[in-house]
Amino acid sequence: MRARIAIIGGTGIYDSEIFENAEIFDVKTPHGKPSDSIKIAEYKGMKVALLPRHGRNHTIPPHKINFQANLHALKTVGVERIIGTAAVGSLKKDYERGDVVFPDQLIDWGKNVITFYNGPDVRHIAFADPFCPELRDILIGVAKSLNIKHHSKGVYLRISGPRFSTRAESMMFRQFGDIIGMTCVPEAVLARELGICYAVIATVTDYDVWADEPVDVQTVVKTMKENAKKVETILKAAIPKIPEKHSCDCAEAPEKAKF
Ligand SMILES: [Zn+2]
Repeated sequence: MRARIAIIGGTGIYDSEIFENAEIFDVKTPHGKPSDSIKIAEYKGMKVALLPRHGRNHTIPPHKINFQANLHALKTVGVERIIGTAAVGSLKKDYERGDVVFPDQLIDWGKNVITFYNGPDVRHIAFADPFCPELRDILIGVAKSLNIKHHSKGVYLRISGPRFSTRAESMMFRQFGDIIGMTCVPEAVLARELGICYAVIATVTDYDVWADEPVDVQTVVKTMKENAKKVETILKAAIPKIPEKHSCDCAEAPEKAKF
């Protein structure tokens, strides 16, 4: 079975009714094994794939995720559009715990470079606008119509993890970013390198460490579970709205990037 749309994520999505009657596929890639099997199900006439980024039992930390295998595997089953779900910390007061954010920009503060283009095929992918405008519009429209509190813009600052920030780092990051996470890069980069549309539904779980209530894992997990319901509601409404024909130019990115 093939799917044009995929979800990469996320706590609460694995058992979603979207994937109730899913078939399960183990995809081999030249980059090794993806984080888990790919579930593919039909939802409202659309074929949708799911790949849990950290494995179904959340056993793979951010720095051990085989992002190349994940993206390659999704491409192999026919995926043209990816919605990533991500739990993030807030760097600004306005981005409150439980808020949904559709980031429009990102800053990569990570320490590693992960790309499909390691030579001899040298390509410099255009990345001025890292997220698919068409997918973003659909997601924002759905959140609006469902009256879900959300931010239609935001700068996602990516750190390598798996540790959280120091107070000094967090104060610095606040100057540049609105939300902070560990997985949007390289995921967004690799998707663009493959010509796959990519957008993120981020949900705020904590205030990083700049606020009076420093981030801890227990708070993050509790808020993540509460946020998962919101994410599922958005996905269920958004998926049927994704058109087969693309109005964006994400698919042309790899060709345009040839050196
Ligand atoms: Zn696109």
